[in-house]
Amino acid sequence: MSDESQELGITESKSHKPGEWYAEVVQKANLADYAPMGGFIVTKPRGYALWEAIQDSLDGWFKETGVDNVYFPMFIPESYLEREKDIVEGFDPEVAWVTQGGHEELEERLAVRPTSESIIAPFMAEWTRSHRDLPMRLNQWCSVVRWEATETKPFFRTKEFMWQEGHTAHASNAGAWEEVWTRLGQYERVYEDVLAIPVLRGKKPEHDKFPGADTTTTVEALMPDGKSVQGATSHNLGQSFAEAFDITFADEDEAEQTAYTTSWGLSWRAIGALIMTHSDDQGLVLPPTVAPTQVVIVPIWQEDTKDDVLEYSEEIAEDLEDAGFRVELDDRDERNPGFKFNEHELNGIPLRLEIGPHEVDDGEATLVHRPDNEQSVAERDEIVDAVDEHLDEIYDKLYEAAEENLEENVREAYSPEEILGTIGKHGGYVKTAWCGDEACEEAIKEKIAAEIVMQPLADEGGETAGEVPEPDRDECGVCGDPADEIAYFAKSY
Ligand SMILES: [Zn+2]
Repeated sequence: MSDESQELGITESKSHKPGEWYAEVVQKANLADYAPMGGFIVTKPRGYALWEAIQDSLDGWFKETGVDNVYFPMFIPESYLEREKDIVEGFDPEVAWVTQGGHEELEERLAVRPTSESIIAPFMAEWTRSHRDLPMRLNQWCSVVRWEATETKPFFRTKEFMWQEGHTAHASNAGAWEEVWTRLGQYERVYEDVLAIPVLRGKKPEHDKFPGADTTTTVEALMPDGKSVQGATSHNLGQSFAEAFDITFADEDEAEQTAYTTSWGLSWRAIGALIMTHSDDQGLVLPPTVAPTQVVIVPIWQEDTKDDVLEYSEEIAEDLEDAGFRVELDDRDERNPGFKFNEHELNGIPLRLEIGPHEVDDGEATLVHRPDNEQSVAERDEIVDAVDEHLDEIYDKLYEAAEENLEENVREAYSPEEILGTIGKHGGYVKTAWCGDEACEEAIKEKIAAEIVMQPLADEGGETAGEVPEPDRDECGVCGDPADEIAYFAKSY
């Protein structure tokens, strides 16, 4: 390898130094850069394209299911945030404040939104008059700021992050639950059908739910290093926010009723999970669903074959473009094919077409899968169908590998030693019986920094909405007291 390609390529190992490897992939695959202020990143075009792909899917599904997009100010008056105080203590130390505008000191400090319940809820209260105004479903795509002093990890830990936050009001608790499941289902779908990442669906334990929520539901994804990522959350807020912000309505008998509300969000952490799940020591690996370029064509020529090879390659590129694929023809003169292969591997282009004089003579193209270098040959006449099939195959390969990782890494353990030993040795999830006492989580957390990331859900409808099914054993895996809940322990991001 030349010095140049070494500089271009990934030098860290995913299995040995996942943190360093991740940072290198993000930078060298041109997804993001570090901003001059600690804790902030600059999202580059190829990184932002991933966010747009996620956005396109989710936003469409939201709209199909009755959601309207809105935009609220990024600043929230302190008095508004104060109204939340009774129900929310969660965000205070993480809030960034604006105290001056121009040369003037502000009369009232303005918070940079850490989340927007406290400014959206008062308006929902104003807009909700009668049962006919419900359900009201609002969503905004924006960024929020949480001033946490932690080491920056692009898309995983940044003080400002992009997300969507949905806020809804309903006439009944059943309506709120239906909303919670609809959004959780859409989050599950974006992970499984767009990002090729299987998830576990469940709820957070009582002590770890969103401040003020009745129930916080979550989708959790297991990373190859054995840690869980909270993929998105959907909260049933019950009536606590509606009571604090007077979200009331006149029912059919003109009697005043208090609404039930939900909120739900997915952040660009999904991009972090995407990078971490599929990529390797050669660089970024992307499913074709989100890849900004799905197919790269690399012509391989000598001086005397150049014109034929290029012309043939251009025709194929055109056919594929016409069929709706995102295609790049890499006809750069100054780079040799080997350099180009490395670069496109680093950038995670799912499928490479190699075209040399042989392919031209035989009326074929050589297809190479990014994830595992599997090669095959397709007929020129059938190239559009072949590319379509191969992109599907690549998606399936990525999904299956992630699914295998998940299936192999859910283990049961029923004593503290066994729980600690299992997570210590294998990572992944440990399923156990739990008495419901936070102290039992603390005992595990102190020793190995693993916590209860998820509890599975019983039947999601009706009376038992949000309840956890009975465990196989009736003694808590940590303290031995009677247990009637299942809990999944894991280390997490
Ligand atoms: Zn216990």
